[in-house]
Formats: sequence, C-alpha cells, structure tokens
Amino acid sequence: MVSRAVDTLMNAVIQLEGVSKVYQAGEMAVQALDDVSFRIDPGEFVALMGASGSGKSTLMNILGCLDQPSAGRYLLQGVDVSELDTEELADIRNQQIGFVFQHFHLFSRTTALENVELPLLYRHRERLSGRQQRKLAREALEMVGLTDRAHHHPNQLSGGQQQRVAIARALVNGPELVLADEPTGNLDSRTSEEIMAVFQSLNQRGITIVLVTHELDVARYARRTVTLRDGRITSDEPRYTTTPSRPVRQTLAATESDAELVR
Ligand code: ADP
Ligand code: MG
Repeated sequence: MVSRAVDTLMNAVIQLEGVSKVYQAGEMAVQALDDVSFRIDPGEFVALMGASGSGKSTLMNILGCLDQPSAGRYLLQGVDVSELDTEELADIRNQQIGFVFQHFHLFSRTTALENVELPLLYRHRERLSGRQQRKLAREALEMVGLTDRAHHHPNQLSGGQQQRVAIARALVNGPELVLADEPTGNLDSRTSEEIMAVFQSLNQRGITIVLVTHELDVARYARRTVTLRDGRITSDEPRYTTTPSRPVRQTLAATESDAELVR
C-alpha cells in the first residue's frame, strides 16, 4: 500500500483540500461541493450552516467516509481516506467516528441499552464479551444522563431521550469525532437546548464535534461556524462567547417532567 504519509498535518482531525463533489443524475450534473478546503483540530466544536441544498449533508457524508470526493483530498487523522480499502473504511466508521442523525434511527423493538450496544456487535477486531458490551453501553448511557432509562423501548421515551440514546450509541466505541446532521431538526426548542447541552459536555471531554444546523440558536453552542452556500464556504468564524449550557444533569431534571410518557 502507498505510504500513509503523515506530515505536518498530523494534528488535524479533519483536513479537506480542494474537495469537490459532483452528482450525476441522468443528463444533469449537480455540483454539490465546489473546491472546499478547511481543517478541524482535535477538541473543536464546529457548526456547519447553510440553506437547504447548500451541500451540508454531502460534506458530512464525505467527512464520515460514507462517500468519496469527486476531486480533492480528505485526510482523516492524517490518513488519506481514498487509500483505504472497504474493510478499513468500515472500521473507521465503526471505531473512530460517531454518527447522529435528525431521525434518531433507533430500533423500536429493542431497549435503549441494546440500541447502544449495537455498534459493538459490528467490531471485527477485539470482540467483546456480552458483559463487556453491556458495561460500555451503560457507560455511554451515563454520559448522556440516561442510565435510568436503559430498559425502556424507544416508544417509551421522549424525542429528546431518544436522541440521547442515539448519541450514546454514537459514543459507545469511544470515537474521537462525532458528526451530527441536524440532530435537533426534529425537536422543539427546549429539547434542542437539552441536546446541545449534551454535545457541549461531550466536547468538554475532548471529543471533536461537527454539527449541521440551520438554526442560529443551535449554532451558538459551537465555538466555530462554517457557512456553505452553493457548495462553497462563504464564511468560517470563531465564536468567542458560546451559549453556556446548564450542567447536563440539571437540564435533564428540568425536562424530566416533560417526559411523563406512555406509561
Ligand atoms: P443540504 O444538506 O445542505 O441540504 P445536500 O448536500 O443534501 O444539501 O445537497 C446539495 C446539492 O446536491 C443539492 O442541490 C442536492 O439536490 C444535490 N444532491 C444531493 N444528493 C444528491 C444525489 N444523491 N444525487 C443527485 N444530486 C444530489
Ligand atoms: Mg442536509
């Protein structure tokens, strides 16, 4: 294999160099990304903003190694992902990156704990015993403040709690990077705050977060905002004063009363 040149970019979690993406839909070519370059360092919390159709999800798919650029280079932790084979990419998606989506994507027939354990079943290196799996899943649920709902099914949980289960699932393999595409898009504003408090607490533990949103209130929790328009970056700015979140526990206590659900 070609040497996985680790150069001066060693410290970047994400390095994009002139990345473009063209979708071919029949006769039509859609340029979803056009010469996008930036880097994200360890421990950053980045909000990715832009109108619908500006290329946010396309960019997230590339960052998550779910899709490849048509041109340009993507280095993840200094490794050019185009040099990796299918199995290596699957390992990276499973171990190094946590994904959170707008529509939680939980399995309805299994408990919160079992949903969180799921990514551990796809590890083909270092297989874990059932007991180890449950321990890691419980720890992940604890990080999102949901230990007491471990045995609930998704339909017994509020939207915010379901999203927290999905975040725990994203954390269970201990990724350095979490990618979230409109994680609050399906939630009311108070619950969005609760979820952003969770992301903020994860970031305080050192996890790098890239989060897509089109709401300024949500972006305010991040420490840097990158804006896309028609597939190009139109601004990239640090935010010196972020929305201070209440501690996760306190936020949860405040929202618990909303969650008196299907009992
Ligand atoms: P956003 O997430 O910001 O709404 P997307 O990344 O989903 O934007 O889309 C960017 C552009 O690429 C849009 O014009 C969209 O229609 C187009 N696009 C996205 N996915 C595909 C696809 N699979 N095939 C063809 N065009 C696509
Ligand atoms: Mg999108």
